Amino acid sequence: MNFEKSRALHERASQLIPGGVNSPVRAFRGVGGNPLFIERGESSYMYDADGNRFIDYVLSWGPLILGHAEPSVVKAITEQAVRGTSYGAPTALETKLAEMIIGAMPAIEMIRFVSSGTEATMSALRVARAYTGRNKILKFEGCYHGHADFLLVHAGSGVATLGLPDSPGVTAANALDTLTAPYNNLEAVEALFASNKGQIAAIIVEPVAANMGLVLPETGFLEGLRAITEREGALLIFDEVMTGFRIGGSHGVQGLTGITPDLTTLGKVIGGGLPVGAYGGRQDIMKIVAPSGPVYQAGTLSGNPLAMAAGIATLTKVLEPGFYEKLDQKMQRLAEGMHEACRQSPVPVYFKSIGTKFGLFFTAEEVHNYADAKKADTKAYARFFWSMIEQGVYLAPSQFEAGFLSSAHTDEQLDLTIKAARQSFASLVEEPAR
Ligand SMILES: *Cc1c(COP(=O)(O)O)cnc(C)c1O
Repeated sequence: MNFEKSRALHERASQLIPGGVNSPVRAFRGVGGNPLFIERGESSYMYDADGNRFIDYVLSWGPLILGHAEPSVVKAITEQAVRGTSYGAPTALETKLAEMIIGAMPAIEMIRFVSSGTEATMSALRVARAYTGRNKILKFEGCYHGHADFLLVHAGSGVATLGLPDSPGVTAANALDTLTAPYNNLEAVEALFASNKGQIAAIIVEPVAANMGLVLPETGFLEGLRAITEREGALLIFDEVMTGFRIGGSHGVQGLTGITPDLTTLGKVIGGGLPVGAYGGRQDIMKIVAPSGPVYQAGTLSGNPLAMAAGIATLTKVLEPGFYEKLDQKMQRLAEGMHEACRQSPVPVYFKSIGTKFGLFFTAEEVHNYADAKKADTKAYARFFWSMIEQGVYLAPSQFEAGFLSSAHTDEQLDLTIKAARQSFASLVEEPAR
């Protein structure tokens, strides 16, 4: 495959935009080489600037559950665009999307739309702090909740130590109120509550972690978080920005597990490929948000009509009977083939899937938390990634990200992907070509 145009475009972009990208993982640092510049997407395919075609399993990092440029979504956006793109005043579209989400997600009684997942988690935590009158929050190592200062924190050594900033520019003071525990470790959570008695406002968790690769909660972990927060008077926040409308059908991990968080954050799928986030939950908590309450949170483009229209069109499709059953069958087909391919791989690798998400780890031992994930072989992943690209399959350019299915993927494409994976695994014992 030829990537000359992408290379030239990246070179030019890098002179004007840091790293040539507007979000870091896009730069392919996790796999080396140059990022592919995309010109067009159609159903499950993406076409780069050099005219190469790929079966896309990134799907804009999750949102495109119907695939690229799905006709009903395109129609909804274009029809709205001719009526105006933003008014800074309420529209019936917002109420409509709110109704659809509240009808689907069991723990959401009231919702506020924002423009990104980052805004959603930031705002939900502000609300949690205001509601409880407490400052500290607890998150898990390897869970990503957007790039707000106080969420760009992971633990130093030992769970009882103070959080250390993950990024220059995040002040120590900002990190101070963020406590961090290893994923799937309830003892660590108990210890943090014991040493910060009456000070923790909320636990925020990806109920299925997918920003350190795909890592599932162990039996009892989420139940434990619910029990501890209830006992300690803290709120439980499920960050379902990525799992929402992708795991548990349209009901989220909260529907799948029957665990009711106090607040939920959403994004990605609910915007149908346009910039959207949302946070919602119990009415008594949401009512403290301005203007019905004192907690300030606002946005010029919040509830943007184009984004609402794309979200409504997308959710209309996913809420049709049988939508997730068909996707489940597709995932089962992919998973069966990939499990077999992994078994025959000359290097240790395993495949995991849940709902419409999947992950691959190049390691012999199952991953339960971030420390485990970091032991996986990133060099093997990089070579695997490029081998898949050469065979026309676009996976996440990092082992620490999930893969996604859409309703546009065909059985034939899934079988091609499995075949490509077999070949790629086999090639990993040979000398690297690049
Ligand atoms: C993507 C993501 C976010 C951040 O959403 P943005 O729209 O990128 O700001 C937050 N939480 C989770 C779990 C995510 O996957």
